[in-house]
Amino acid sequence: MTYHANEKGYYGEFGGAFIPEMLYPNTEELRQNYIRIMEEPSFKEEFDQLLRDYVGRPTPLYFAERLSKKYKAKLYLKREDLCHTGAHKVNNTIGQILMAKKLGKNRIIAETGAGQHGVATATVCALMGIDCVVYMGEIDIARQAPNVARMKMLGAEVRPALSGSRTLKDATNEAIRDWINNPVDTHYIIGSVVGPHPYPDMVARFQSVISEEIKWQLKEKEGRENPDYVVACVGGGSNAAGAYYHYLDTPEVGIIAVEAAGKGIDTGESAATSALGKEGIIHGSKTLLMQTADGQITEPYSISAGLDYPGVGPMHAHLFRSGRGEFISITDDEAMIAGLEVSQLEGIIPAIETSHAFAILNHRKFKEDDIVVINLSGRGDKDLNTYIDYFKL
Ligand SMILES: *Cc1c(COP(=O)(O)O)cnc(C)c1O
Repeated sequence: MTYHANEKGYYGEFGGAFIPEMLYPNTEELRQNYIRIMEEPSFKEEFDQLLRDYVGRPTPLYFAERLSKKYKAKLYLKREDLCHTGAHKVNNTIGQILMAKKLGKNRIIAETGAGQHGVATATVCALMGIDCVVYMGEIDIARQAPNVARMKMLGAEVRPALSGSRTLKDATNEAIRDWINNPVDTHYIIGSVVGPHPYPDMVARFQSVISEEIKWQLKEKEGRENPDYVVACVGGGSNAAGAYYHYLDTPEVGIIAVEAAGKGIDTGESAATSALGKEGIIHGSKTLLMQTADGQITEPYSISAGLDYPGVGPMHAHLFRSGRGEFISITDDEAMIAGLEVSQLEGIIPAIETSHAFAILNHRKFKEDDIVVINLSGRGDKDLNTYIDYFKL
């Protein structure tokens, strides 16, 4: 029994590759090569060196003393907010740009919603001197001007998606269209553990450095590799997949996944996929997603741009369905209050995505000697305006 993907990219009943025939050659090339390439010593060496010297890994595992005292448990924070560019996303884009180079690709495309994945992609393209086109919905371009400016400054071309709701899903459609038309020279960097096989497994492997480090860091600090619980917020699920990865098949480590309830699960303005989702196919994989009775994707809502996604990766759908993971949803208000509290108790301003993970401390009681690792997926600088408006700072 394993909670990892099987050879066909299935996590239990979820995953797989449901793609148009025209995309088959692209994903097939990746599928046939990704594990072999990741296991090559020269790949590993370059990946590790860039994670160390460019991203700043290992990120610290920090014992949060004041937070622990307040919530009566041993709380450790895995500091992904200290990665270059301010979040975990760069672990994946570094891995994928190296993969693209090994496959002989000289052009990168990506989709982005709030712009965080676009920035992480533009960053590694600048690092490698590779052409970069980022598709972004026209509405999102208007809403996320600072990230658009960052991508341009890094040398990427930002192409507006003008169809449909002009947001993330439309940008994804444009990126797929581009890839179909440019199968030979272009690699498509997907930003989370979503999409057709092999993307969810490949992205999870790149992010798995998070739990690899937690194991030896916790061993140093507590004399044991396994915490009692690992907690992470879930948008598509990549920071969570990385934090859980080396604990998936260790049942004594509890897995807690935190989703965005938005204004409340029953308000119609939510992104709590496990509570509201039904089986369906989105972006090439079978998973849980929020949809209408006719199977059309429902627009999700969350105050945090990174959790505002109508599905979850297939790993998480399986963790939910099998009962291996405990899923908790947190409203906008609860997250904002938790973000302010962590700022004032620990001197760390978390991304609003991560604030959702902290907010469970008010819902979920732990034992006093429980060791709980919370994955601090990103820093809150990008969210300062939202915090300012909310708290009238
Ligand atoms: C993008 C983002 C997320 C959500 O993406 P996952 O793939 O679910 O990790 C969470 N936290 C931060 C800080 C992000 O930037």
